[in-house]
Amino acid sequence: MKLPFILAKRFVAGEQFESSVPASKALNKANHQLTLDLLGENVATKSEADASVAAYIKVLDGIKEYELLSGISIKLTMLGLDIDVEYCADNLFQLLEHAEKQEQFVRIDMEGSAYTSLTLDLFKRAHERFGPKHVGTVIQAMLHRTKEDIAECASMGADIRLVKGAYKESPKRALQKMSDIRDAYNAYAETLIQHTPFPRFGTHDDELIRSVREYLAHHELSYNRVEFQMLYGLREQGLSDLNRLGYPTRVYVPFGTDWFPYFSRRLAERKENIWFVISTLFKR
Ligand SMILES: Cc1cc2nc3c(=O)[nH]c(=O)nc-3n(C[C@H](O)[C@H](O)[C@H](O)COP(=O)(O)OP(=O)(O)OC[C@H]3O[C@@H](n4cnc5c(N)ncnc54)[C@H](O)[C@@H]3O)c2cc1C
Repeated sequence: MKLPFILAKRFVAGEQFESSVPASKALNKANHQLTLDLLGENVATKSEADASVAAYIKVLDGIKEYELLSGISIKLTMLGLDIDVEYCADNLFQLLEHAEKQEQFVRIDMEGSAYTSLTLDLFKRAHERFGPKHVGTVIQAMLHRTKEDIAECASMGADIRLVKGAYKESPKRALQKMSDIRDAYNAYAETLIQHTPFPRFGTHDDELIRSVREYLAHHELSYNRVEFQMLYGLREQGLSDLNRLGYPTRVYVPFGTDWFPYFSRRLAERKENIWFVISTLFKR
């Protein structure tokens, strides 16, 4: 049974690219850059993965056509990572060739820990070929392995979005306590600021945002050495306040018909989001 889109409207900009354009334009006008994300994950057949590549290419073209200040985020399981790694690599490189030609940027989102090694391996190949101007990835502070991954990404000068991690992981693989995850996040944020030209911080957490800001101030680094990123529909005021202070800001704008897994993760993260959804039902 497909749930009605009105439930997800708070967190998802539209079911089609065109229907997400007005929200994207408004966010650009408010001085935020964007990351458009065509929702979907874990495709099981090559025809679905081929369709995803074609759809992502149309998104890149749409961004150009509508003159949006936006890159895209992709999930490798949507490009066939579950089917065959080399096939997925071909799809990724095809997409990156298109992005490179049009001077655009593709970020490889990070999925659950079963995919971390595969994702980072493909990212490194893509980084070597297309460079940080066209491709970046995401690192999850909660994973134990991140200590090594962050050092490697920093030494490559990679374009990294640092997040806590949205997937449920076992204690064997990941930190479980919020205070431990925050400590790890702050340590990794410092490594990225020290070693990479322009780290991106994807969080709505004021404690983490404050730590990054204090670190920059303490080391007399300029506001535009980092970017703060938040998800569409969450903490708009907070992001605008950061923007007004002079920090570069970016909104992650998901759209598409396959919104249910993304929507469920937002509800699981924060009980207040359930109230957003309920209130949406009454604001038609
Ligand atoms: C731009 C972006 C991209 C992301 N990409 C990925 C990815 O590729 N892979 C991945 O695994 N995860 C990704 N995530 C999700 C991320 O891993 C976290 O699951 C998610 O951001 C929740 O953690 P948080 O630090 O934002 O705050 P939380 O841990 O949810 O909350 C911590 C505190 O922050 C404050 N806060 C949080 N939300 C709100 C709110 N809506 N309003 C007011 N205060 C709030 C509250 O004080 C709260 O107690 C991404 C997140 C962002 C912002």
